[in-house]
Amino acid sequence: LTILGLESSCDDTAAAVIRRAPDGTGAILSNVVLRQDDLHAAFGGVVPEIAARAHAEKIDIAVGQALSDAGVALRDCDAIAVTAGPGLIGGVLAGVMCAKGLSAATGLPLIGVNHLAGHALTPRLTDRLVFPYLMLLVSGGHCQFLRVDGADDFTRLGGTIDDAPGEAFDKVARLLGLPQPGGPAVEAEAETGMETPRLPRPLLDRPGCDMSFSGLKTAVLRARDRIVEEHGGLPRAARADLCAAFQAAVRDVLAEKSRRALSLGPVTAFAVAGGVAANGALRAALRDVADAAGVPFVAPPLALCTDNAAMIAWAGAERLILGQRDDLTLAARPRWPLDRRADPMLGSGK
Ligand code: ATP
Ligand code: FE
Repeated sequence: LTILGLESSCDDTAAAVIRRAPDGTGAILSNVVLRQDDLHAAFGGVVPEIAARAHAEKIDIAVGQALSDAGVALRDCDAIAVTAGPGLIGGVLAGVMCAKGLSAATGLPLIGVNHLAGHALTPRLTDRLVFPYLMLLVSGGHCQFLRVDGADDFTRLGGTIDDAPGEAFDKVARLLGLPQPGGPAVEAEAETGMETPRLPRPLLDRPGCDMSFSGLKTAVLRARDRIVEEHGGLPRAARADLCAAFQAAVRDVLAEKSRRALSLGPVTAFAVAGGVAANGALRAALRDVADAAGVPFVAPPLALCTDNAAMIAWAGAERLILGQRDDLTLAARPRWPLDRRADPMLGSGK
C-alpha cells in the first residue's frame, strides 16, 4: 500500500508518502514539514488565523514536494489520509479540503485520521510494535497515557488535568528569561544545576494516572521571586538550580505515573512520543521504569515524535487495512477524543 498523508492541525504544514508492505513493515518514502515558526514568533504563540491562512497557501506545495521527493505519482497511491482533528479548526479544514479535492479528482479513497492516533501508532511504523502496548504522549499540547489495543482501539488511562508538560517547560523558560521553545533551553540550563529548592510532585499522593503541571509553574514563579528578593536579581547558578528542580519534578511525576500505568495490565512495550520525549533526563527515567517492568522502551526518532505527516499516512494505512474509509462528508473536528468511550459523536458503550 502506498499512502499520501496530510497534516495541518497546528503550526506545521506537512505531507508525506509511506509504503506498507503486506508483512506489516513500513517505509517512509518522503516526509515534508513546512514550519511556520517565523510567522508566529512575534506573537509568542501560534495565532490560529495566521496558521490557517499559511496552511491553505502551503498545503499544495507540501503535497507536490512529498510526491516528487518520493518519486511517486498521485495516481500510484492507494489512498489519501488526512488529519481530521483534533486541532486548530482552520488548519484542519485546510488539510481536509485539500484531501477531499485530491480524492474527488482521482477517485482514491479518503481516510480521516485522528492526529493523536497518528502519534500513538508511530511506534508500529518505526519499531513494529505488537498490540497491546502502552503509549505516553507528552508534548506542548498533550499529555496522556493510552493503552493501544488495535489501530482503532485506544483506552485513555489518565492524563494531565491542566497544562501539558511542554507548555509548562515553555512557561518556566519565560519566567526565567530563557528563549523559546522552553524545553531545550531549560534542559540545557538544568545540566549545571542542583535540584533545589525541592518543588512539589503534584497528584502523586492520589491514586490513578492523572497528572497536573500548572501548580509546578506557579511554584517556580514563587521560588524565583524569593531568590530575586534576597539577591536583588536572579544569579546564573540559582537559575540553573531552578531549572533542574523543575525538570526533576516533571520527570518524577511522569515516571511514577508511568509505573502505575504499566501496572494496570500486561503490555508488549512502553512507547513515548511528543516533543517533551526529547528530554534526556525524562527519557532515562522512563527507560528505567520500563526496565523495572520488564518491557522494552521505545522512543521513535524525534522527527517522527513531533508533528509530521508520515504518521498520518501510516495511521491511514492501518485504518485502510481494517476496511475503514471516509467519503466527501468527512468532517473536520476541533475536538476528537481517541478513546471511543469519551467521544460524544459515538456515545458511550460503542
Ligand atoms: P501538539 O503536537 O501536542 O499539538 P506541539 O506541537 O507543541 O503540541 P511538539 O512539537 O510535539 O508539540 O513538542 C513541542 C514541545 O516540546 C514544546 O513545548 C517544547 O518546549 C517541548 N520540548 C522540546 N524539546 C524539549 C526538551 N528537550 N525537554 C523538554 N521539553 C521539550
Ligand atoms: Fe502533535
